[in-house]
Amino acid sequence: MQTQECQARDRAHHLHPFTDFKALGEEGSRVITRAEGVYIHDSRGHRILDGMAGLWCVNLGYGRQELVEAAREQLEQLPYYNTFFKTTHPPAVRLAEKLCELAPAHMNHVFFTGSGSEANDTVLRMVRRYWALQGKPGKRWIIGRENGYHGSTVAGMSLGGMAPMHDQGGPCVPEIAHIRQPYWFGEGRDQSPEAFGRACAEALEAKILELGEENVAAFIAEPVQGAGGAIMPPASYWPAIKAVLAKHDILLVADEVICGFGRLGEWFGSQHFGLEPDLMPIAKGLSSGYLPIGGVLVGDRVADTLIEEGGEFFHGFTYSGHPACAAVALKNLELLEAEGVVERVRDDVGPYLARRWAELADHPLVGEARSLGLMGALELVADKATGSRFDKSLAAGNLCRDICFDAGLVMRSVGDTMIIAPPLVITRQEIDELVRLARRALDETA
Ligand code: PLP
Repeated sequence: MQTQECQARDRAHHLHPFTDFKALGEEGSRVITRAEGVYIHDSRGHRILDGMAGLWCVNLGYGRQELVEAAREQLEQLPYYNTFFKTTHPPAVRLAEKLCELAPAHMNHVFFTGSGSEANDTVLRMVRRYWALQGKPGKRWIIGRENGYHGSTVAGMSLGGMAPMHDQGGPCVPEIAHIRQPYWFGEGRDQSPEAFGRACAEALEAKILELGEENVAAFIAEPVQGAGGAIMPPASYWPAIKAVLAKHDILLVADEVICGFGRLGEWFGSQHFGLEPDLMPIAKGLSSGYLPIGGVLVGDRVADTLIEEGGEFFHGFTYSGHPACAAVALKNLELLEAEGVVERVRDDVGPYLARRWAELADHPLVGEARSLGLMGALELVADKATGSRFDKSLAAGNLCRDICFDAGLVMRSVGDTMIIAPPLVITRQEIDELVRLARRALDETA
């Protein structure tokens, strides 16, 4: 199909996620046709370095025949069967075992879903059910963070703290509150990062006291906020948050949909920060995006109660533990493990990216360059000396993103924060190319 024909037919019938339909009408979408390694190709013959691993998910890179083969074999053997009503199948069993082997020691159960959003819907119902079974049915409030992202279903967007999402098609699920995010560059520069991190934890405690400890079920957060802008919290943040949660006996839900499966140089972001979450929603890198699958890893405290006291849990999805998705996810985990991909992020390409990425901090447009593992962000500023931001109407981030794409690199913009999260198999040489293209895009944006 020719590019223009594809764009016209796309415009005629396809409502895209997170897209201004009318603006799309004028420009048309870029048509992506194939991919290999860390590169995607468009219909006009351009090869583009995918600095976002698709949507933070293609951890193992494109074109892995082992994953294709795992899907094919499973589709031939058993393309579908459900895991409801006392049935199971080997791929779901094997994947559950493997996940529990990789997860922190106290996590020995997993509930499968089709996506990260469904995982967070599951979280919402599970934590409230847990406290009801504990004889504390009043503990229903869940505290999330402003600008956090937990998906697009009604529960997912309610747990998330993205105001524009709350404004469309609401109302949100009741009994969900949000506290400030640990975004030092954006909101905390009048204090040291450490003092700011502690202030954010104090905001959590203040919210718990306001709602009443006896009414609060859980706190949900991404170890590093991804979609909100690759926001790495100050070192003081997580220890202080953990202390508040322990003091008030509130469950911790660490949303690992982006941070899981090696992104931060550990299997889970929680391990990087020394967290011991009660629940961990997962998706994306679980299958390196080759097939859709998500889930919730459930710690013993919650699982034991649900199993021993709960009776039937009236919750599940047709595709919970889908055999082909589970087979691909299992093969993906085996390859990540066999090839030492996670350790490579921690010990080699992660530190290398950190060095190379930090060099961009000298650019006149860059107020801060930060990274952790294979996730990085650049804060665009109008005035480097004062760190003041561009006028919003200029949409500097979107401009830089589009220039970047034309230069051959996918970088995402969140407001005026530029983000990268490349496939974990990226080489040092490809990181050099990524940094070179990012600098070129910055030069052309300036
Ligand atoms: N949680 C986090 C942290 C995410 O980043 C996302 C998606 O970006 C989700 C949940 C939702 O996952 P999905 O798009 O698979 O529903």
